[in-house]
Amino acid sequence: MSIVRVALDVPLSTLFDYTVDEAVVVGRRVIVPFRRRQMVGVVMECVANSEVAVERIKPVLQALHDSAPISANLLQLLQFCSDYYHYPIGQTVLSALPARLRSDKPITIKPVLHYRLTGAAPHIDFLPKRKAVARCIVETLSVQSCSLVQLKVISTTAGAQLKWLEQEGWVEQFEALAMPQRLSVASHTFANAHQLTDEQQLVVDAVTQSAGFGCFLLHGITGSGKTEVYVHLMDYVLQRGGQVLLLVPEINLTPQLEAYFLSRFPDASLVSLHSGLSENERLKNWQQAQTGTAQIVLGTRLSVFAELPKLALIIVDEEHDSSFKQQDGLRYSARDVAIFRASQSSVPIVLGSATPSLESYHNARTGRYRLLKLTGRAQADARLPTVNCININQTVMTEGISEKLLREVGQRIERGEQSLLFINRRGYAPVLMCTECGWLSDCKNCAGKMVLHLKDQRLRCHHCGYQLRVPTACPGCGHAELLPIGSGTQRVESVLQVRFPDARILRVDRDSTKNKRAWQTMREQIHANEVDILVGTQMLAKGHDFPALTLVGVLNPDSALYSSDFRAAEKLFAQLMQVAGRAGRADKPGEVMIQTAFPDHPLFRCLQSHDFEGWAASQLAERQMAGFPPFVFQVMLRAEGMIEAEVYAYLNQARKTAIELKYPVEILGVVPASLARRANHVRAQLLIQADTRRELQQFLRAWRPVLDSLPTQKLRCSLDVDPLEF
Ligand SMILES: [Zn+2]
Ligand SMILES: [Zn+2]
Repeated sequence: MSIVRVALDVPLSTLFDYTVDEAVVVGRRVIVPFRRRQMVGVVMECVANSEVAVERIKPVLQALHDSAPISANLLQLLQFCSDYYHYPIGQTVLSALPARLRSDKPITIKPVLHYRLTGAAPHIDFLPKRKAVARCIVETLSVQSCSLVQLKVISTTAGAQLKWLEQEGWVEQFEALAMPQRLSVASHTFANAHQLTDEQQLVVDAVTQSAGFGCFLLHGITGSGKTEVYVHLMDYVLQRGGQVLLLVPEINLTPQLEAYFLSRFPDASLVSLHSGLSENERLKNWQQAQTGTAQIVLGTRLSVFAELPKLALIIVDEEHDSSFKQQDGLRYSARDVAIFRASQSSVPIVLGSATPSLESYHNARTGRYRLLKLTGRAQADARLPTVNCININQTVMTEGISEKLLREVGQRIERGEQSLLFINRRGYAPVLMCTECGWLSDCKNCAGKMVLHLKDQRLRCHHCGYQLRVPTACPGCGHAELLPIGSGTQRVESVLQVRFPDARILRVDRDSTKNKRAWQTMREQIHANEVDILVGTQMLAKGHDFPALTLVGVLNPDSALYSSDFRAAEKLFAQLMQVAGRAGRADKPGEVMIQTAFPDHPLFRCLQSHDFEGWAASQLAERQMAGFPPFVFQVMLRAEGMIEAEVYAYLNQARKTAIELKYPVEILGVVPASLARRANHVRAQLLIQADTRRELQQFLRAWRPVLDSLPTQKLRCSLDVDPLEF
């Protein structure tokens, strides 16, 4: 009989001891009794003795042999995360696993239905030209069998076309238990490999020639061909039988990217990992990564915890994107964890961006990372868009849109080109006001305002989801006239409808893309040039290529200039660079017009000259003066609860204990969160910062046990290391 120490999904910073009869290895999942329940845990250690009296140790109920044990490498990575983010080890380990591996039900994966060509299938040239989707399906299936999900990437109508092909007897279904057998790794196909530009080649050489761990910041302007660099790096790794992990910020982008990388490596095995997959799909893909079958793993932040026995390269695309940071539970930064992982595995990591985060850029400038640059557009004739500001104080405005911009939009419609109006607010107007008594549409549960959604006549709180019918008279004084203040996407859409009654206008925001396939359909419409004007939020800014788009109008960026969040300007610059990059990518030059009251602000000046370096240098100088990251390292203790006094009493007590520890850290005051009340919970926070990461971690190791011993009553508390939200 021996003793194993098991990680369990409970909020306690400890492992739990159990006895086992059989030999159980580290990383094995086991079912154990815990309090009055059964739980799945992961064996972290096998030990000879326990601090608990032997008669009190319960036995493991069952060791699960339905999946390979978690590797020592991954467990070490998770231990690092638990230590660094000061989050309980059991919750860290279990939250990294696919849901199916966390449940005590045995794993039986239903086979996935795949499609393949039958012997009777005609050559693609014999299919009617008008059957474009069917032709595309046949072409894809002639390379390898595919599931319906994979084929739907081709088009939303793939299902119907498949039915037709089946009826004709050209395509058949079969149960695919595993991914089809691959050709030998060395002979994979690298399709459409362009000749790299000299700059691109230098980048590829720098990464492939580095031995062991190295962190590279790839700063490449929009259109400079970062993706081409990625595929050449992937090709290098695949040739040598290694695995590539590619992290991307946006779940919406993964199907497109999956299709793209498969088109470049048609016989490579690629799996995706993100929260949009079904539990079975996620487990299957995870296991393919674990066995080394998957050569390319493409995923959002959670995929940084995939098992990758042959890991040879990590790429983090759009490394500056804040969605790499998890905002609840284990509050990790997938980018930062990926860097640790690369160093743990002694492999290179490439952080790619057109607007690197100031943290990464600072690290590159000070020599911790190696800076690689792509300064030219990959297509020599492609030009960067021109950027101009429209001073909103010196022009005629129609409900938030300047006359000048409207005229430009009109010209684009005449020329058959697309325009995009970018506004980072959905709904009709952010607040409704009474002109008589000053009543505002406050949310009864939050410190925020209810947003007017005119389409369905609702006031809706975007923080807690509370909604009301739009009142016909002022709830304060009964006055009949209520005025929408400010603009959201719906209002912009309706202004445009009045001005351009014949134009085809498409609104893209979280409301209009609620249905699963809506966004996909919209993208197809945009590509087919069936849209004249796009109105949208940041959803439109990210990584989409719209060939007919030549004008981008930015409607209301100014609030970020006086935000209390010191990162707001950095985020705005990145967002505007990204959205500007949508304009004029093909043969037509693009134009960006920014409506602002501060046309001389350095942010817009740098944007006009496409000067990231200048912008970053000025921001870093400001941050250094003000003592903000990356020149200090921060931890945020947050608390929220129904009773204000309890929230503040807890945080003040925590602050007192932090001061008493007498570590070289700066302890700020307890302050309300930027949204001081949400869903009837009072929210407040305490920020602590240190000059070095080490000092901060030393302090946290001492403070954490003290915090754990403070009574928290009914409060929700969390510790956020390297916080991004304030
Ligand atoms: Zn009123
Ligand atoms: Zn609310």
